[in-house]
Amino acid sequence: MDAAARHGRRRRLNARGSPDMTQTIAFIGLGNMGGGMAANLAKNGYAVRAFDLSEDALARAEEHGAMRAASAAEAVTGADAVVTMLPAGKHVESVYTDAVFGAAKPGALFLDCSTIDVATARRVIEAATARGFGMVDAPVSGGIAAANGGTLTFMVGGADAAFAQARPILSAMGKAVIHAGGAGNGQAAKICNNMLLGATMVATCESFAMARKLGLDPQTFYDISSVSSGQSWSMTSYCPVPGVGPQTPADNGYQGGFAVGLMLKDLKLAIEAAASVGASVPMGNAAEALYQLLANRGEAGRDFSCMIEMLEGK
Ligand code: NAD
Repeated sequence: MDAAARHGRRRRLNARGSPDMTQTIAFIGLGNMGGGMAANLAKNGYAVRAFDLSEDALARAEEHGAMRAASAAEAVTGADAVVTMLPAGKHVESVYTDAVFGAAKPGALFLDCSTIDVATARRVIEAATARGFGMVDAPVSGGIAAANGGTLTFMVGGADAAFAQARPILSAMGKAVIHAGGAGNGQAAKICNNMLLGATMVATCESFAMARKLGLDPQTFYDISSVSSGQSWSMTSYCPVPGVGPQTPADNGYQGGFAVGLMLKDLKLAIEAAASVGASVPMGNAAEALYQLLANRGEAGRDFSCMIEMLEGK
């Protein structure tokens, strides 16, 4: 007997697509992040109807208490809310335009948790609103472990009423849910935060590399800088030097953690957004160029703190 059956949740959709739980959520995009998030919704008592283009992802979702749907439209039909966790803006826009808008019942709420460009997020929310649906952009901070553990932070953009409706659903998947303002502001918060993270990690790495060349022991530099004005999250929570500070991906050969490729994606979104509003982001530009170099070296899959190896000439 699989986990879904044990939990009494293995149900095929009936003709009207209405299982008997109080709230039914369609979940589209069950990859590295979405898989764990959908499992947490099911664990919290929501009836989850899952759709993904990948058969493996669907099978895993079913094992974690979701019901599989044969298409995005079938998942959405009759659902009270729709959560999407997709790779990029073009996937989000096509899923909503081609399937969700046409199949959703009146009054359904839409939550896009993917990291996408601000312009697409605002366009899709505007289209949803014009059709009478509430919608929020709700990108996350936290990686796969936080998605599995239900400890994500959600930065949410959208109208007050849509945020109020979205909050309990997001709380079932995370530890913090913060309203960042109107449509697209969740994405804006996410890319500004990650641009800051990308730049401070580069600065932390180059400082450690230079300290070593000047004859300072990395642990000694950490002991000083972590209680001085150079302190940052990149140093004290995610130190890029193996054996220094708390346990981080650096202690595991830069495996796991937050991949260079994902940091690069977020920096490209940040640069694009900066250009759209004429914001000057010299540090963001420099960070993007450096993570691009790392990716070109074949390191897109390693943790982003491996930047220190490149700066040390390794
Ligand atoms: P992923 O590639 O593992 O998952 C995306 C899933 O979407 C895949 O299973 C894919 O088959 C599915 N998909 C694509 N197009 C589809 C469609 N038209 N219909 C149905 N399913 C479709 O990606 P992920 O790591 O889970 O990331 C998802 C989002 O979360 C991205 O926007 C990413 O930037 C963001 N994010 C990721 C992390 C992380 O650590 N992985 C952290 C924060 C935010």
